[in-house]
Parts: sequence; C-alpha cells; structure tokens
Amino acid sequence: MKLVSYWLDTAPAFSGESEGQIEGHYDVAVIGGGFTGLGAARQLAKAGVKAVVLEAGRVGGGASGRNGGHLNNGLAHSYLAAKTELGKERAIALYRALDDSIDTLEALIAEEAIDCNFRRAGKLKLASKPGHFDGIAKNFEAVHREVDPDTALLTANDLKSEIGSPFYGAMLSKKSAMMHMGRYAAGLAEAAKRRGAVIHENAAVTAQLRDGKRHRLATARGTVTADQVLLATGAYTPTSFGYFRRRIIAVGSFIIATRPLTAAEIASVMPGNRTCVTSMNIGNYFRLAPDNRLIFGGRARFSAVSDQRSDAKSGAILKQSLARIFPQLAGVDIDYCWGGLVDMTKDRYPRAGYQDGLWYAMGYSGHGAQLSTHLGMIMADAMLGREDRNPMRGLEWPAVPGHFGKPWFLPLVGMYYKALDFLQ
Ligand SMILES: Cc1cc2nc3c(=O)[nH]c(=O)nc-3n(C[C@H](O)[C@H](O)[C@H](O)COP(=O)(O)OP(=O)(O)OC[C@H]3O[C@@H](n4cnc5c(N)ncnc54)[C@H](O)[C@@H]3O)c2cc1C
Repeated sequence: MKLVSYWLDTAPAFSGESEGQIEGHYDVAVIGGGFTGLGAARQLAKAGVKAVVLEAGRVGGGASGRNGGHLNNGLAHSYLAAKTELGKERAIALYRALDDSIDTLEALIAEEAIDCNFRRAGKLKLASKPGHFDGIAKNFEAVHREVDPDTALLTANDLKSEIGSPFYGAMLSKKSAMMHMGRYAAGLAEAAKRRGAVIHENAAVTAQLRDGKRHRLATARGTVTADQVLLATGAYTPTSFGYFRRRIIAVGSFIIATRPLTAAEIASVMPGNRTCVTSMNIGNYFRLAPDNRLIFGGRARFSAVSDQRSDAKSGAILKQSLARIFPQLAGVDIDYCWGGLVDMTKDRYPRAGYQDGLWYAMGYSGHGAQLSTHLGMIMADAMLGREDRNPMRGLEWPAVPGHFGKPWFLPLVGMYYKALDFLQ
C-alpha cells in the first residue's frame, strides 16, 4: 500500500520553476498553488496582469491534490440550515455560487483542454438511518422548489440500481460532477503558465513585510515585491498569518483507494457510478476512480495531523467502514492511503475578502474542490476592481475563541459528533 495521494501519484508533473533564484516585481503575488491560487493566477494573467504564484511544495500538493474527487453542488450545511442561519437571499446566492463553480470548471477545462476525466456524474446524499431520510426529504423539497430543480428524491427501492448497500433513500443532485484532481491541478498550472503567470514550486513564503505600498515576500530562494497579494493557503496557512489562523481550523480528513475493481464488483457495489456522501456527522464519501478503484474517505479520527503515521491509522479505520458499507469488498486490497487538511471555519461557510492588506479566499470546510477555482477567479476580479461578484462579501468572520493555530479542542468536537451520531 502506498501512503501517497492517488491523484498526485497518477498525475503528470508540472513543468514550472522548482529551483533557481526568485526575484522581481509583480502586480500580484499569490501565496499558495492550490486551486484557489492557480485559478486566480490564470484569471489575472488572462487579463494581462503580471502575476506570480509562490507554492511551498508542488502545485496541488495541499488539499487540492488530496481530496475525495467530488465536485458536489450544495453547501456543507443543508439548504434549510443555511436559510435559517444566513437568510434566504444569501443562502440562495451561496447555493448558486456552488452551481456556478461547477459550470466554471466545465468551461475552463474545455477552454484549456485539460485532460482530467471531468464528468457530470450526479451526487447521492445517502440516508444512513431511517430518520435521516425524513430530514433529507424536507431539505429536498425546499432545494427543489427554491434553488435547484435538477434534483430528485430517491427511495430505498430506487437506490437498488444505484448502490449495493442498504441505505434508506437519498437526494440526487444531478449537476454534481467528478474529476481527476491531480490531472486538473497540473493542467490548471500549465494553463496559468501558458497565459503568462510565473509559478514557483518549492517556494515557501517565510516572511511578509509591507514596504510603503509594496509587499515584500521572502522565500529561501529570494524575494519578490508585489502591489497586491492573495493569500490562498487554506488549511496550510502558517501561524505568521495570525488573523487567518485564529479563524481557520485545520482538520485531518483521510482516504483509501482499493485496487481497480472488476466489472462484476462495480455492478455489485456502485452501478450508478456517482459521487456518494452518507448522512452521518462522522460520515463517509466515496466514488469510483477513472481506473475503477473505489476512492473511500471520511474523517475517521478527529486529528489535526496528516502524515504517513496518522494517515495509516485512519486508513485502518476506513477499511472497517468500507467493509461495513460494502461487505462484498471486505478484505479487498487497498493500494493507496493518504490524508490532508481541511480548512474549516466555525460556522462551516467559506470566506473571501480583504483583510490586513491581503486578499484571501479560504474556509471551504470540505466543499472547496469546485468552489476554490471559482472563488480564486472572483478574487482576481476583485483585485482588478470588481468586488461585486464575491458571494461572501460582507459576511462577518469572528475568531474562534481560544484558537491560535493548533485546534486543541478537536477530540472534544469528535466526542460530541460521535454522541450525536449515536443518538440521532
Ligand atoms: C482529504 C480531503 C478530502 C476532501 N474532499 C473534498 C471533496 O471531495 N470535495 C470537495 O469539494 N472538497 C473536498 N476537500 C476540500 C478541497 O480539497 C479544498 O477545499 C480545496 O482544495 C482548497 O483549495 P485551496 O487552493 O484553497 O487550498 P490548498 O489546495 O490546500 O492549497 C493551499 C496551498 O498553500 C500552500 N502554502 C501554505 N503555506 C504556504 C507558504 N507559506 N508559502 C507558499 N505556499 C504555501 C500549500 O503548500 C498548499 O499547496 C477535501 C479536502 C481534503 C483534505
């Protein structure tokens, strides 16, 4: 079993700069080469702006190349909860932003001819308990009526042609999609570079200073100056960016990938071939890979660490969950196991705007694979003077009380959600 991301292991390497001197003055410097940063850089370069991306590791090496591969429309919350918490107008705007972000990806992938297996597969939100189906049905009625008629409610009986596991019904969101995250990350970086952006890998920003109106960003390989900076570091935001670290809670999420399944196994496990998410608080998400592996993820443990030791520990738990949901795959070979950090906010809504002299977009709370490119592009437009497209504009972002970088409270949150899953 390889302890690396399947997406990164099976993606082409980016042909950008990973060594040599870093210097020069740019209109915009982007810190972080995930989907947010790369989406912004491509948009800026397309508009003729001189842009540089400084990425600590490899492009897509953060959450963008480590996720479940789902491009789901819909928020981390149910639409009904978002309506109560944010009001109908903002809830609809946010829901639409998620829809638009999948359209954005589809158009961008076609325009830049990125070979990344993008497919409008549809998403199933699966009821893990009979009572959960009532909640899903109530939410479906509001979603279908008010924001997304491209949805359907499936009974347990309807699900028999979709999935080989006894769930109690589901909401189907037909707009949702899937893609190969590693191939997309490399393709997006190549596209940004082709459009004129300069992208440096292995270029962690170690210090950031204001020199009059100019920003100075230092790396171990040299310093750049820039008129504007976009912070696109998500869950990997360093503690030196204190305002953001007090608001972003980095939480580990973990994934295993089986060996490629046979046609008979696929027919017994996931004949519908969609993205699937279960309704538990500590739930699971799964889909088939382009080469027919089952990519199966979940929180598994409430850990703020994703390294090979932590990932392997979580992988063992995920293997048991996989066998519980699909007993027909118990004992199947696991070829890959990996993890990454999710950039949670306290209320699980993303944030984008301008603070302490920096533009930012982050806090996708596990739902950023599609939104990050879109919001990166929107923030690029904001830097060019068009702020009206930002769906997060004006949304307050209070700090998490007692949180200064390391989420010491995660085990308590884990216990709370475990109890909820037991009771509800
Ligand atoms: C295991 C897992 C499963 C997920 N599954 C899904 C899913 O199925 N669907 C979904 O919608 N979302 C999912 N997500 C969330 C989604 O992947 C993220 O929301 C999205 O990729 C965020 O992109 P980003 O560009 O903002 O951040 P990232 O991709 O994390 O990029 C941030 C980058 O900043 C760089 N960086 C940090 N500090 C510095 C520095 N000082 N200098 C230079 N660079 C720096 C990092 O190296 C990193 O590459 C998942 C996340 C994880 C971890």
